[in-house]
Amino acid sequence: MEIREHVALGPYTTLGVGGPARFFAETATEPDVRQAVEWATERQLSLFILGGGSNLVISDSGWPGIVLKMSILGRNPLGPDNGREAVEYGAGEEWDRVVEQSVAANCSGMECLSGIPGTVGGTPVQNVGAYGQDVSETIVRVRAFDLQSGATVEFSNAECEFAYRSSRFNSRNRGRYVILAVTFATHPGGAPRLEYADIKRYFETQPKPPTLANVREAVREIRHGKAMLLVEGDADARSAGSFFKNPVIAAEHYQRIFAIAESRHLTLPKYPVGEGRVKVPAAWLVEQAGFHKGFTFGTVGISSRHTLALVNRGGATATDVLALKDLVQKRVFDTFGVELQPEPVFVGFDLP
Ligand SMILES: Cc1cc2nc3c(=O)[nH]c(=O)nc-3n(C[C@H](O)[C@H](O)[C@H](O)COP(=O)(O)OP(=O)(O)OC[C@H]3O[C@@H](n4cnc5c(N)ncnc54)[C@H](O)[C@@H]3O)c2cc1C
Repeated sequence: MEIREHVALGPYTTLGVGGPARFFAETATEPDVRQAVEWATERQLSLFILGGGSNLVISDSGWPGIVLKMSILGRNPLGPDNGREAVEYGAGEEWDRVVEQSVAANCSGMECLSGIPGTVGGTPVQNVGAYGQDVSETIVRVRAFDLQSGATVEFSNAECEFAYRSSRFNSRNRGRYVILAVTFATHPGGAPRLEYADIKRYFETQPKPPTLANVREAVREIRHGKAMLLVEGDADARSAGSFFKNPVIAAEHYQRIFAIAESRHLTLPKYPVGEGRVKVPAAWLVEQAGFHKGFTFGTVGISSRHTLALVNRGGATATDVLALKDLVQKRVFDTFGVELQPEPVFVGFDLP
């Protein structure tokens, strides 16, 4: 395993901003991970795990310690698991290939997660989800290296503490574990999930019920329409995906925003999530706060096909991205009293 120095990190991310890593190691095996961690510990270096770089904003000063690029590959079919078929994948495998293989094997459970960029190891971190499915529905086990104890540990689905765009890996144990492998289980011969409005609409006029492969294709096409699929040369895809989470607010707060919307002759969409709380679409709030698709702010802007994606229009810095993020958050707060929470991970910002 080679340890390189002063490696520019922007090109390793989909947003394409950020400074260099002081040290950089590509880890293709579990012993590589152990070795890189020991090397970093001896030198008291802070460590950051890089997957596919699709959910990151890296600071202009970069990362002062070591970046460990997760490259462990491998597919290990484990057979039946409570009526489902389980397969373990190395954390460095490309996520969309996992979905492709599951759909090709006629197994349901992750077809709506087609086209999401990044690696297998990145999926449990924020419990990736789209079009009515979350990866937590298919994750059976996560194997990880504990940077605190130096041991390899396993987490069951319940132990991962999954919630909306959250798990123990991006909340109370953020930065503690290097995810090495993830086991997923999907339903052989299961029907595709057709819950989400965009997907239902897509198949509205089709006489026959769609297959898993049809749904995968539809999801990828819909994503492409919103520049939420990474396509070479697509300027709107130079983003970190949705930049803001959909806020979950108290019902009383919703009523106040509803009244503001009504006074403007608008209907505010809502999705009840139980316990008197409501999820509100962040895209709606951003649009109504005055940001339209294609909005430009120097070298950055809002995707011309998706209001929630902040894009690098070429030559942007992390400072530029943050300035636009702050502006959007401020205007949404001033208009609706809602604090939008960013979805990407900010790397190297709190460090000297
Ligand atoms: C165009 C586009 C569309 C997107 N659409 C969606 C979507 O529909 N739904 C959704 O949920 N997300 C979406 N995303 C966000 C992103 O693709 C996912 O969050 C993805 O799972 C991130 O994986 P990654 O490997 O790229 O992780 P990275 O971006 O490299 O890292 C993200 C975080 O995970 C940690 N991490 C990554 N790998 C490991 C590991 N092996 N061990 C420990 N920690 C690790 C990193 O340290 C970091 O904290 C989108 C992004 C883009 C650019």
